[in-house]
Amino acid sequence: MTVTADARTDLDRTRFYIDGEWVEPRGTETHRAVEAATGELLGTASLGTDADIDAAVRAARHALDEGPWGRTTPAERAGYMRRFAAALSARAEGTSTLVSRENGMPITLSTAFNGAAPAGLLHMFADIAENLVFEEARPSPQGASIVRREPVGVVGAITPWNYPQVLAMFKIAPALAAGCTIVLKPSPETALDSYIFGDAATEAGLPPGVLNIVLAGREAGQSLVTHPLVDKIAFTGSTAAGRIIGAECGRLIRRCTLELGGKSAAIFCDDGDVDTLLRGLGTASFMNNAQTCTTQSRILVARSRYDEVVDAVAQYCRDQVVGNPLDTSTTIGPMASSTHLDRVLGYIDVGRSSSARLVTGGGRPAGQDRGWFVEPTVFADVDNNDRLAREEVFGPVMAMIPFDGDDDAVRIANDSNYGLGGSVWSVDEDRATDIARRVRTGTIGVNRYDIDLGAPFGGMKDSGIGRELGPEGINNYLEYKSMYVSAKHLS
Ligand code: NAD
Repeated sequence: MTVTADARTDLDRTRFYIDGEWVEPRGTETHRAVEAATGELLGTASLGTDADIDAAVRAARHALDEGPWGRTTPAERAGYMRRFAAALSARAEGTSTLVSRENGMPITLSTAFNGAAPAGLLHMFADIAENLVFEEARPSPQGASIVRREPVGVVGAITPWNYPQVLAMFKIAPALAAGCTIVLKPSPETALDSYIFGDAATEAGLPPGVLNIVLAGREAGQSLVTHPLVDKIAFTGSTAAGRIIGAECGRLIRRCTLELGGKSAAIFCDDGDVDTLLRGLGTASFMNNAQTCTTQSRILVARSRYDEVVDAVAQYCRDQVVGNPLDTSTTIGPMASSTHLDRVLGYIDVGRSSSARLVTGGGRPAGQDRGWFVEPTVFADVDNNDRLAREEVFGPVMAMIPFDGDDDAVRIANDSNYGLGGSVWSVDEDRATDIARRVRTGTIGVNRYDIDLGAPFGGMKDSGIGRELGPEGINNYLEYKSMYVSAKHLS
């Protein structure tokens, strides 16, 4: 079944959402949003300047310091968040379709991640806000201490294009729950969908300035990072950009969380079940056309099972339905942009010119000249020192590597600058769980890999600093304050 694309012509988003209003941009630069499956124009969006970012930050600062938001109770914030969730849910179908058109995400996945998950996260963090103790009095040697959890302040949220709605909500929901205000700077590659948050925030009656949205490129994004009225940066994107942003935040002693890239490993043990692996590969290695930070693009296989698993993964790739992301039978959509397609094809060339063996794929699919499609590709006998095994491709290009014994598998998995995702496949769940404990990574699955929004998510090593999601996810948006008072506060 093919989901009908929104035929409206008002997909243009030429205004920014600042202080609860749709305001004209200060600059004149625009971005042409192009449909990933066709390369045709989808809509136009204005690109923000430093002045637009400044206006948004000032609105967020004012809403926190002078507006009603800074005085809300957690229960009141939870109420706003649930109304915001309802307004997003009412728009979920249109949102999912729009994101699929923007970045090529298969519609079934988009329905879950862009349609349902943002509202679900708002509900989850609304519950967390209502159950968290924001202030408590404790006995102290001199009397008592009142320990307060206070909002960290104005949050600059910078997001990538691969899961634009849900990754923004990884930040917006805990920030709202904590009592922060927010300036969201989405990625130009997905220029149109984030303003749906503005439509929904208005409908939900969120006070002006609590959430502000300005689409901008890197330079104006940098001005958000360094703006003197911002207290914290929540960034998801590439490790290269994360280094720059982290360095600025270090210089400014600005709180920051960095959710960055990965080069994760799936470990298939000598007793692994191939059918279980093939059932799990969709989320472990190919989710969102493998444009996922946790993509397990290194598939490590016990040598005794190597040829069998290489053949099975190659056949899995040949069986994928590569096509229109709005068709519910599509499993692999196009890459998000022509630039990104070139990057992925460039890595296929890297693989071809290495000692690795191309098993399947290796180019653009026959007959799909429009849009940014690429064949699911498998290279076997990849050396873990090769670029194909060390660098993030961010597309459906798998590097298969044999290993000799569990210790060797752990060694190869850990021989990476990154540490974000991973999985272990064995019929002996205790053995697989033990191997999983030894891999230096922020998340890892046993005989499956699917993200649990209720558990902390983030990376080790070059994959980032800090954790989002789970009850722990609110901690990034809180500061502790200790007030030394008399014992009378204990009653
Ligand atoms: P990117 O780093 O190019 O851009 C991400 C965002 O940062 C965009 O909004 C961009 O405009 C902005 N940006 C870039 N440089 C900036 C700077 N110096 N100052 C301020 N803003 C800046 O990443 P991308 O190509 O959009 O996304 C893909 C990357 O994101 C991959 O590396 C992927 O692994 C990573 N990612 C990580 C996670 C995670 O949770 N760890 C999740 C999704 C994606």
